[in-house]
Amino acid sequence: MKKYVYIQTFGCQMNERDTETLAGMLEDLGYFQIDAQDNADMIILNTCCVRETAESKVFGLLGRLRKLKVANPNLIIGVCGCMPQQQDVAKKIRHSFPFVDLIFGTHNVHELPRMLQQIQETKEAVLEVWSTERGIAENIPVRRKDKLKAWVTIMYGCNNFCTYCIVPYVRGRERSRKPEDIIHELEDLARQGYKEVTLLGQNVNSYGKDLNINYYFADLLINIEKVEGLERIRFMTSHPRDFDQRLIDVIAASNKVCQHFHLPAQAGSNRVLKLMNRGYSREQYLKLIQDIRKAIPDSSITADIMVGFPGETEEDFEDTLDLVRQVRYDSAFTFIYNIRSGTPAAKMEQVPEEVKTARIQRLIELQNNISLENNIQDEGKILEVLVEGETKTNREKLAGRTRTNKLVVFEGPMELSGRLVSVKINKGRPNLLEGELVLVSANK
Ligand code: SAM
Ligand code: SF4
Repeated sequence: MKKYVYIQTFGCQMNERDTETLAGMLEDLGYFQIDAQDNADMIILNTCCVRETAESKVFGLLGRLRKLKVANPNLIIGVCGCMPQQQDVAKKIRHSFPFVDLIFGTHNVHELPRMLQQIQETKEAVLEVWSTERGIAENIPVRRKDKLKAWVTIMYGCNNFCTYCIVPYVRGRERSRKPEDIIHELEDLARQGYKEVTLLGQNVNSYGKDLNINYYFADLLINIEKVEGLERIRFMTSHPRDFDQRLIDVIAASNKVCQHFHLPAQAGSNRVLKLMNRGYSREQYLKLIQDIRKAIPDSSITADIMVGFPGETEEDFEDTLDLVRQVRYDSAFTFIYNIRSGTPAAKMEQVPEEVKTARIQRLIELQNNISLENNIQDEGKILEVLVEGETKTNREKLAGRTRTNKLVVFEGPMELSGRLVSVKINKGRPNLLEGELVLVSANK
């Protein structure tokens, strides 16, 4: 008899990628993934704890799942990922939602089949959260969401301990996968017809430092470039502190690494950057942007920016706005600082909520204007677009992304999905570019 699993993912691409692993292992056990809870035999929530809102959503959802469990006592409910990796949160889930059958963390995702077997044999709930990482599990089955673009984790964990961030506590120390394991996975993806890969890690440009084989992120990019069939290589996230000239030169010389740099600045004030423990000054950050633009003139720069970090004054915030004006990001993820207990910033003097809200509105307005102005600058250009398929709202139109990761919408036949085409940009909109098809490349 067919069994169905519904997996809901919260948070970043690393979690999305973990979900693909969960789905792959479950498929091997005979489960089909569905996108609604109602008829599921198993529901898994793969959680995030970077901000409180993500945690609250999971607690709310668990409250509602109680009813489904009452209606179907055979339903298996699991909670995994970053939330249960915090001991107090795992206890809270266990205590407040006793109907949850399975709780596990970020370090033992690959143990899911064994834990499920244990539930079946003992008919008892399993709570298994490894407090620390234990190496990297390779060759785990995977069911990827997309057929064109794939996420490939190249390293796990983070050593940076930015003072506001919970990630190093729930994802452990930096561990790089072996280059040959990564290349093997990429060759396999190319054979399956994938055109684009995004290399994932909390800080990809410190890749290799823990391997002690004198092989770093730039070396990995050089080797990935040689994988036949792959057309585009992306990566995220890079830490501005670890982005060196050699890496810029390797990217400049590459035909496949896309000209998109997501470089989270977080703040524009040196005082705040220091309190955040980011490891670079505003001047070093601006110099890095200058160096990238000098070597790769058409680069797109995007960032994560936070407002309301403890002690942020109006003057500090003005420095952030000024940084945004100087860099002129194509887009930015903007965040209001949120207390994460156990991190150093949680104990610092907090900025009032209404001040934070007013600041983020000013930041978003500024960034939206710059995004639109930058998109208007693209009008008249002919850009390479990897076609992803028809748009969600208009089936007559196709959508795809430029090498700079901008969304482009244009008219064309559905058969172009998965192809690289040239599109002339006619109109820059706040969040996308509108254009017309000019050329389809012969065999790509
Ligand atoms: N490793 C990446 C880096 O350093 O840029 C980012 C990973 S983090 C999951 C993604 C973003 O969440 C960060 O860049 C930061 O802006 C935001 N973030 C992390 N902790 C936060 C907090 N306590 N409150 C608000 N935003 C936070
Ligand atoms: Fe968090 Fe900083 Fe690590 Fe990014 S680099 S995951 S913001 S601690």
